[in-house]
This record gives sequence, C-alpha cells and structure tokens, in this order.
Amino acid sequence: MSFVRTMLGDISPDDMGFTYSHEHIVCRPQHWVDHNQEDLLLDDPEKSKEDVLLFKNAGGRTIVDATAYDYGRDVPAVKKISEETGVQIIATAGLNKGILWDSHIPENPNLTYGQWIDQSSVEELTDFIVNEVTVGIQGTDVKGGQIKFGTSYNSITPLEIKTIRAAARAHHLTKAPIHSHTETGTMAFEQIQVLKEEGVNLEYVSFGHMDRNPDPYYHLKIADTGAFLSFDGIGKVKYGPESMRIACILELVKHGYQKQILISGDTARKSYYYSYKYGPGLAFIIEKWIPRFIDEADKAGFSGKQLVEDFFINNPKKCFTFKK
Ligand SMILES: [Zn+2]
Repeated sequence: MSFVRTMLGDISPDDMGFTYSHEHIVCRPQHWVDHNQEDLLLDDPEKSKEDVLLFKNAGGRTIVDATAYDYGRDVPAVKKISEETGVQIIATAGLNKGILWDSHIPENPNLTYGQWIDQSSVEELTDFIVNEVTVGIQGTDVKGGQIKFGTSYNSITPLEIKTIRAAARAHHLTKAPIHSHTETGTMAFEQIQVLKEEGVNLEYVSFGHMDRNPDPYYHLKIADTGAFLSFDGIGKVKYGPESMRIACILELVKHGYQKQILISGDTARKSYYYSYKYGPGLAFIIEKWIPRFIDEADKAGFSGKQLVEDFFINNPKKCFTFKK
C-alpha cells in the first residue's frame, strides 16, 4: 500500500491535491535566535495560520513544511494550524545543515546540535530519524512525511556526511522520501555520490533550492539521475528575476523532465508572509506566479496548464508517496 504521511495521519496520494513542496509555517531556529535575526523567526502561529488560509482560499490543499529538527520546528503549533484550517501539512524528519549546529538542541541547553551529531553514531542518528517517521516527532504523535538532510555552501563537512548517511539508512528502513537542502544550490553532485554509496534510488529524492544555482547544465545532470528538482525560491527577486527561474524550468521541460519538477516559495521569513509583513504571502504563487508561468510556457509552445498540473499535483503526489 502506498500512502502520503501528513501530520494528521496517512492519506491516499490521490487526496494530496494542489501542493506546495517546500515551505515553513512556524519555526524559531535557535541559531537565528542566537544571532538576533528577527525576520527569520516565524513565531506567531496565528499570523502563520492567516497565510495558510490565504493558500486554502486560493485553491491549495497540501503544504510540505520543510522545517527539520535543527530549524526550530514547532510540530504542535503547525499541527493545530492543519486541524483548524483543513489544509493538509506534511512534517519533515531529520536535519538541515551544519551552519545551524552551533546552537543548542531544544532538549538540552548545554548540548549543541554539532556536539550531539558528533557524539552519535550513524546508527544512533538513523534510529532518531526512523523514530520521527514511525513513532512521532519530539514527543508528539506527529510523524514525519519526508526525511531531510543538508549541506553547506560549496562544502560538505564530515558531520553533514554523517547525517546524509543516516537519512539514507532511515529512508531504506521507512520508505519515506528524502529531501535535500543545498546551500545556494551547490553540492548536489557530491550529495548524490554519498546517496549512491548508500544504495539510494534517486527517484525517491528531491533536491531543494535548485533555482539558487540557475545553471541549466547542472539541472539537467541532476534530472538525469531520476531525482526531483525543487524550484522553491518563487518570488525572491533579490536572488534573481522570475524570468530566470522560468527559463530554467522550461529548459528542463524542453528536455523532457516536466515530471521531475516541484515548485514552492520557501517562506522562511516574516517579510515573505503577508500576515506578518505584507509580503507576497502563501497565495502569491497561485494568484500571481502561475498565470504568468502559463503565459510564458504557452508562448514557448508548451501547455502551461498541463505543466502546472504536473508541478503542483502529479509530481508532488509521486515525490511524497511512501512506496512499499
Ligand atoms: Zn526551506
């Protein structure tokens, strides 16, 4: 039996509907608390809920909350938003990236993530992730619907390699899909190398932040492995105009990879939220980006409507399914 694991229980992949594949809803990363980065704290669940409702009212059904253990995940708050709005939310097991690991873990003010990962064996980290997927996250009954790992900008540390191996082994044990954080879109090839060493079928992996590295050759090489590519910086003009992201996406489509593309906004700042700071908000992609994308795709000779159906319905359904 194949299923998708949401915060409120397992559902049929057919019930996912319109899906954002990488967002953040409520989070308070200790690293950013320690560095006084107020904009990076999504710490008012009522405000976050307002944006989730904007998404729902625009036609959205499911959101993948990509917030892992080391990013100040708040599972009870997000679960409550899912219950109150009826929007299905998928939680994330595992870890993000090394830069966050100078801060302490929620359970112990005297132990940093880095110390904890260093002291743990790969087997112990694997057990930790498996427990998040099969029992519950941080003492709750909410189970992770994907397993995350991540690496740094143009580098992978030994501790990050340890977490990639643990994520891969937890994937083998649970069948949960894997999601990777790439910093500024770098190091996907090197991540793939470790995943291959661990025997992971790349069709079960999605690579995040691909649009931060708008390099079509790089994207095509990743797509060749069978993996999903997540273009999750929609609306972030400071990293490049929308035309850049759309050109990269259409380049993949031209080469036949439209079934491996995911789209989202990675809203990890108050200033990205409408409810906090009058930013683009969670309805932006549906209301503003999709009409523009359809227009450009149609003009390029594709069916924009069909592509949108793949990016937001068919591809997430395939990507986030636990396959037995
Ligand atoms: Zn993110």
